Amino acid sequence: MKVVGFDMDYTLAIYRQAEIDRLSIEATVSKLVERGYPKQLLSMKYRTDFPVRGLLIDRKLGNVLKMDRYRYVKTAYHGFRRLTREERRRAYHTRRLRPGTERYHWVDTLYSLSEVAVYAAVIDHLENHGRTVEYGKLFANIRECTDISHQDGSILNVVLGDLPKYVEADPELGVLFHRLRSAGKRLFVLTNSGPEYTNAMMSYLLDDALVEYPSWRNYFDYVITASKKPTFFTGKAPFVDFETGEETTKPDRGRLYTGGNIVDLRRVLGVPGDEVLYVGDHIYGDVLRAKKESAWRTAMIIQEMDDELRTLREHTVSFERHDVLEQMRTAVQDELREHQARLKKVERALNGEETSSARPSLEAQRVRHRRSIDRLRAQLRDLDVESSALNDALDEAFHPFWGSSFKAGNEVSSFGNQIEQYACLYTSRATNFAQYSPMHYFQSPRHRMPHEAGTAPGA
Ligand SMILES: [Mg+2]
Repeated sequence: MKVVGFDMDYTLAIYRQAEIDRLSIEATVSKLVERGYPKQLLSMKYRTDFPVRGLLIDRKLGNVLKMDRYRYVKTAYHGFRRLTREERRRAYHTRRLRPGTERYHWVDTLYSLSEVAVYAAVIDHLENHGRTVEYGKLFANIRECTDISHQDGSILNVVLGDLPKYVEADPELGVLFHRLRSAGKRLFVLTNSGPEYTNAMMSYLLDDALVEYPSWRNYFDYVITASKKPTFFTGKAPFVDFETGEETTKPDRGRLYTGGNIVDLRRVLGVPGDEVLYVGDHIYGDVLRAKKESAWRTAMIIQEMDDELRTLREHTVSFERHDVLEQMRTAVQDELREHQARLKKVERALNGEETSSARPSLEAQRVRHRRSIDRLRAQLRDLDVESSALNDALDEAFHPFWGSSFKAGNEVSSFGNQIEQYACLYTSRATNFAQYSPMHYFQSPRHRMPHEAGTAPGA
């Protein structure tokens, strides 16, 4: 890579999720009340730990869903009540679910988690108080109120007023950028945040990091703010110099711009698209669009990974047991099928030999097979009970409501699937790259299809 670009919010600036959600939830709820929703919402219980990334909002039924890669709804909540398997089946599994339609809304940024927290809490609260909720209208109102809270300063001004409370400054950021620059790479910032906010945030993150770089601006060749991603990747908006107000199609090094588009940026960078790495946290706005509209390589920042990896490490024994149980289940099922087949044979023979002398022996065989079948069925039941208890405990360890973000049961979740499809790399934070040489080439492991499993040498 000759050029490395970075998004800012949730990529370089790591927000303290519960704090920022609380701020956003309270701003949103007070605006809902101003619009005529009941005052009691101001004191309703909400949970900042309810939503995760990768969920789907069902605007029609007021549910929040988690799907696997095949769009099978694995977990669903109405308010804070978990839907039963039968309720899920009736609502989602008898017809094909279409996530791209008006009815459904993807929750694909950490920024939008607060909207889900408000949605579930309001539905829970109002319905428990016997009121009818218009689910679609409620969600539209929540989205509007959250957007307004972002635009009118109810959220951003509070964040700027106390940055250490809301944003974790990663002390390694300066080191990372310095290492990349020393290896001859050019760096840029491409963010949707406005110029003043970007300036305040980046100063907080970087101005005191390294003496060689007195201002955060010194690390970057290009700084593009208010970029309107994903339109940045498809549109033709000019770059506007923030200090002079001049429009240009040729952004200069060291200046701060708003707007812009990828075609002009690509021209001034002057390197092929596959020599640019863009690091972002938004699967759609940063990663998917960049990948589809350009040849840029992408790295996705997934801060949830720290918790996921910790849970994986702490429960190694349970995961091993899980694998053992699956192998045992397969073995017991094979044995069961074998006895069932033999029993059938014996019973056919018995039907044909009403009086023969072979009868007593055949009858003895029948009893033996039947006993084995009963024993194996009981074993299967025991295995299922243990395995479902283990699954519940593991899900709970990952997340009290949704389990692992990356998995849905034994399958990859729809969120995990998108990461696999669109991100060239993914990691919990940008500074993890400082652990590698700037010249390190990240190679993907050899892909294996199901039929290759166990056939590779040494497997
Ligand atoms: Mg971002």
